[in-house]
Amino acid sequence: TKPLAGIKNTASERTFIAVKPDGVQRGLVGKIVSRFEERGYKLVAIKAVVPSRALAEEHYADLRARPFFRGLVEYMTNGKAPVVAMVWEGKDVVRQGRAMIGATNPLESSPGSIRGQYCVSVGRNIIHGSDSFESATKEIQLWFGKPGEVIDWEPANWVWTMAEN
Ligand code: GDP
Ligand code: MG
Repeated sequence: TKPLAGIKNTASERTFIAVKPDGVQRGLVGKIVSRFEERGYKLVAIKAVVPSRALAEEHYADLRARPFFRGLVEYMTNGKAPVVAMVWEGKDVVRQGRAMIGATNPLESSPGSIRGQYCVSVGRNIIHGSDSFESATKEIQLWFGKPGEVIDWEPANWVWTMAEN
């Protein structure tokens, strides 16, 4: 069977995307899902979850030493709204996902990007996306590691979206 994050540099590549609690609270889930759907990506996992502190700390482990880390974990885990966690699949989806999301600081994000269109604060930037295939592998395992949580399926129009010739 296919690895959880699919195969890098193929149409089965996968990335982890999460609407953060501020994005859910502000009613932006549908707009964000639509952008990935309309681009031609395939939704292979989705759930609303209030992450445990352990999950949030592991997800952001590389930022442990940063001054905003405690606040970041608190905002992700306090339950005022869930995180909507997703896995999206398709050609170059890790890199394209980051481009669609925009820069970490929304004030540096291009206006057409998700952050550039919907937010203004780095501490409330509404969405997460894996920054590399290796991060996607870690994050999909962390959020969707139980058997059957990521679903292999083929959209009827997949060939029309993906064909090269
Ligand atoms: P991302 O990959 O674009 O989400 O950015 P990073 O991996 O560098 O940081 C993860 C998250 O930490 C960001 O999306 C922000 O929510 C938060 N963050 C990063 N830098 C800052 C900062 O300088 N201040 C605050 N308050 N939050 C930050
Ligand atoms: Mg990051």
